[in-house]
Amino acid sequence: MDNFKFEVDGDGIALITFDVPGRSMNTITGGVMRDLAEVVERIKSDGAVKGAVICSGKESGFCAGADLGELNKRSPGGDRLSKEDQLKWQFEQSFALSKALRALETCGKPVAAAIEGLALGGGLEITLACHYRVAADNPKLKLGLPESKVGLIPGAGGTQRLPRLIGVQNAALMILQGQDKSPQEAKSLGFINEVVAPGATVEAAKTWLKGKPNAVAPWDVKGYRVKDGPYTPAGAMVAIGGNAMVSKQTNLNYPAQRNILSAIYEGVQVPIDAALRIESRYFVKTANTPQAKGMIRTLFVSMQALGKGGNRPQGPAPLEVKKVAVVGAGLMGAGIAYVTAKAGVETILIDVSQEAADKGKDYSKKIVDKDVGRGRTTQDKGDALLAKITPTTDYAKVDGADLVIEAVYENPALKNEITKKTEAHLAATAVMGSNTSTLPITGLAEASVRPKNYIGIHFFSPVERMGLVELIRGKETSDETVAKAIDYVLKIRKTPIVVNDFRGFYTSRCFGTYTTEGLEMLMEGIAPAIIENVGRQCGMPMGPLEVSDSVGLDTGLKISRATAEATGADFNKDPRGKLMSWIVEEKGRVGRKAGKGFYEYGADGKPTRIWPELSQKIETKVKECPPALKEELTKRFLFRQCVEVARCFEEGVITDPRDADVGSILAWGFAPWSGGCVSYMDLFWGAKGFVEEADRLAKQYGDRFAPPQLLRDMAAKGESFYERFGSKDAKAA
Ligand code: NAD
Repeated sequence: MDNFKFEVDGDGIALITFDVPGRSMNTITGGVMRDLAEVVERIKSDGAVKGAVICSGKESGFCAGADLGELNKRSPGGDRLSKEDQLKWQFEQSFALSKALRALETCGKPVAAAIEGLALGGGLEITLACHYRVAADNPKLKLGLPESKVGLIPGAGGTQRLPRLIGVQNAALMILQGQDKSPQEAKSLGFINEVVAPGATVEAAKTWLKGKPNAVAPWDVKGYRVKDGPYTPAGAMVAIGGNAMVSKQTNLNYPAQRNILSAIYEGVQVPIDAALRIESRYFVKTANTPQAKGMIRTLFVSMQALGKGGNRPQGPAPLEVKKVAVVGAGLMGAGIAYVTAKAGVETILIDVSQEAADKGKDYSKKIVDKDVGRGRTTQDKGDALLAKITPTTDYAKVDGADLVIEAVYENPALKNEITKKTEAHLAATAVMGSNTSTLPITGLAEASVRPKNYIGIHFFSPVERMGLVELIRGKETSDETVAKAIDYVLKIRKTPIVVNDFRGFYTSRCFGTYTTEGLEMLMEGIAPAIIENVGRQCGMPMGPLEVSDSVGLDTGLKISRATAEATGADFNKDPRGKLMSWIVEEKGRVGRKAGKGFYEYGADGKPTRIWPELSQKIETKVKECPPALKEELTKRFLFRQCVEVARCFEEGVITDPRDADVGSILAWGFAPWSGGCVSYMDLFWGAKGFVEEADRLAKQYGDRFAPPQLLRDMAAKGESFYERFGSKDAKAA
């Protein structure tokens, strides 16, 4: 038994220490499940054991849940097994943990869990199968069932024991939203029995055991009834209201949400053994959806890999970033300075005047003041962060910086001037980065004396909240520079993706197709409300017209004109160009920042309604949206973005499907239920199905939907993106 230590003390209490060898955190693997069954058998059959305490041998916590990397493992029979046998095998696999935990719960001897650190997912489910739970009094200790965040449902009793402990309504909310609770919150809800000082949980659990408690779960006592089951007035509300809430909040894009409600609804009406089988069936059903497969791969496996430098070129030694200079203390520069200083890095913040530089630092002060006010940080920590930022106009202060990030106006001549000025003070090994959103990096690098050290470091606004940074390799950018830039991004605890130089890079180019497709629909006479609602319902964070307003209609017009010019076209002659020029240049509606764009805005800056005059310019021909139209518009939105992503692969703008998937969700909010643009193509359609559907859309709506040759080749070979471009790890996931 590798994963648990089993020691029996003089009082006959077995102390079972959960400690998976070679890992910093306990997770539940196949080996853990086998060992757990052995642990239970020993508690039951060893006459010297009167009761047991389960604790963790890890500083990091009790257990973070199932090893998701193992989840999609194939059955030993592989493809030779029929679909039905595959499902049976999966059921047996996932039910094994439930079975072991049920055996623990019914072993006839009292068992307590001593929880010193986080217990999430399967980790919490182990403790729920114990008869008593003691947690350390630490407000940062997390207790919860977060499976729904990766498109799964809890599969080891969570959907059955939690409602029986804290009521259907509370449990349903906690599981649907994947919320975690602190020990005190958990105690008042009723799924933690006792909260004690950190370090004292094992003793408290032993004290409980010495009181010779009953070793029977409440639901195994004859006559037990769930407090707010479906046939009670409160429970009926959950069953009905829960469905409505899930529909409203998720637009039914996430099968896990419905399956969680079903598992709870059906499970609480039957005895626990039957309930656990119901849960396992829903678990297998959910785990087999493309949504769960895509979400686990992108939001868990790939995010974790990229967060550990999975896309970092191997070879260059890690860079310990100690000093960074940010030039341009405007909206972006100020945010970049804040996140850099927050990571403990000395930060020089330069602007044209001391006043402008100070204003940039004030941005950090405002965030710190707010965080101190809300108890998110202490005054001392806040002061230490601010002390790391030196606002100045003096370029000599750049001396000794490992990295410079230029964030001045989007003007190539100005950016070139900054490169020359800063490089005069930089060591030959330092990296020069530009936060440009549109200008080709290779061109900007021409102003550098060391183009190998030049790279695009594209942040998103607001910098302190957006988790992604897009790194752009110019033609000359070296692997060492990419590696150093990744080291910096990881230091500020953001996720890096690496792309190649092309107009709009990866994120802006693909994201723009969503808003332009919305504009196409508008031009066709589809009612703006339909366009906006379908955009949101297919999983995008906002409707395309609202997104355009947020970016700025003037900015959009400028980019569209420049993009058209680069391809030899004239956007002013395009009907969309004419519409945009009318709104922006004749009507002065530049978007949210001016309080007027496609939408009208209230005093609080929130959109109130679509600008009614829009219908004067474009006649609304489609005023109703039957399901078939909704499906068609949904496809147009999603396919248009995905075709552009496929083109980016064909042109070598992006090369790693993990970067593409993670980037699509974190940068522009592409329907997270799909696992990202690439997963949408791979898992929901397959190359062949996607090409057929894209060809149909191209025939009906235009060449913008035409799949690139790459996709046709993949369709002919039956390949997926992860097979063709993926790393070994990503393919296996
Ligand atoms: P901004 O106008 O808010 O700030 C630009 C700052 O640069 C100003 O404070 C200005 O005083 C300063 N500046 C101008 N000339 C300077 C000089 N010679 N020396 C030092 N400082 C100088 O602009 P922003 O929105 O922060 O954008 C900055 C860059 O980031 C642009 O390249 C932009 O394309 C890019 N970007 C912007 C966003 C966004 O959402 N705003 C997102 C990603 C990237």
